[in-house]
Amino acid sequence: MNDSAPAFELAKPDLGPWRAGNTGCEGVWRFDSGVPGREVLVTALVHGNELCGAWAVLAALRVGLKPRRGAVTFAFCNLAAFDRFERERFNASRFVDQDLNRVWGAMPWRAAPATSEQRRALELLPFVERADWLLDLHSMQDAGPALVLTGTQSRHVELARHIGAPALVVADAGHAEGRRLRDHGRWGGDADEGSRSLLVECGFHGELKAREVALDLLGRFLLAAGSVDELDVPGGWWRPKQLSQTVLEVTEAVTALPGEPLRFAERWSTGQRVPKAGTLLGWNGGQPFVTPYDDCWLVMPSVLRQPTAGKTAVRLAREMSA
Ligand SMILES: [Zn+2]
Repeated sequence: MNDSAPAFELAKPDLGPWRAGNTGCEGVWRFDSGVPGREVLVTALVHGNELCGAWAVLAALRVGLKPRRGAVTFAFCNLAAFDRFERERFNASRFVDQDLNRVWGAMPWRAAPATSEQRRALELLPFVERADWLLDLHSMQDAGPALVLTGTQSRHVELARHIGAPALVVADAGHAEGRRLRDHGRWGGDADEGSRSLLVECGFHGELKAREVALDLLGRFLLAAGSVDELDVPGGWWRPKQLSQTVLEVTEAVTALPGEPLRFAERWSTGQRVPKAGTLLGWNGGQPFVTPYDDCWLVMPSVLRQPTAGKTAVRLAREMSA
């Protein structure tokens, strides 16, 4: 496919004095109310080119939003990648050496981290391990509706429904390439233990609306966590509540095979529902791949950035009954 990306309108935020953090770990701020409550972690810039979350965290820091109960940690995660951001080549600054959102499994490299992202993951790990609730703010490489990735455990889906935004809730198991932050530790386990994590894809990386979605979700998440009261959240952050949400269950993630590069048959888009089973989606390793069932929903097809072998090319999902 030779289609170009949508216009990139969102500016790179200047973190200024907010880059430093107050924890001894660059980019990480922690505020403890001293009152019992949840330990909440909000992460932005896990991918260095996903600016909407950084804008939202920056807004929270600038207005001095602090928890009334429990503690809230805000983290600008992959600063090294963010520093390389250029609007003209926005995909190039997703990471430095490897995807920071694929390193949260067993970490066999822990004693001797070899990449920029492995070193950063170890710096962030203490904040990750103490957190009960995680809001991980991301954006997407192509235009599409905002969505929340909940993992497969129902407690995360229930939280997304309680929060009431965004309109698409996607229950998925992650990627063959490596574990995501939102699936780390307790968050990916079946035991509840008070753990919740949501990864929100706020829209296309460069769209102004992605920042609005990130602010709205940040307010809703902190309110749901009990960290803040409604009037603590700046009024300008709220977007109209969704009238309904669609919950999708990912049945398979198509991972690009080695050999002939994966190609899509059309410029598919997120949230597109393909009516008929057997519809040609594209070619993977030279072989056609098709929709496995009727009313198959497509989630984040990698139509603009050709997926290399081992990367997720598209997730296929079916609607769950409410
Ligand atoms: Zn991302």
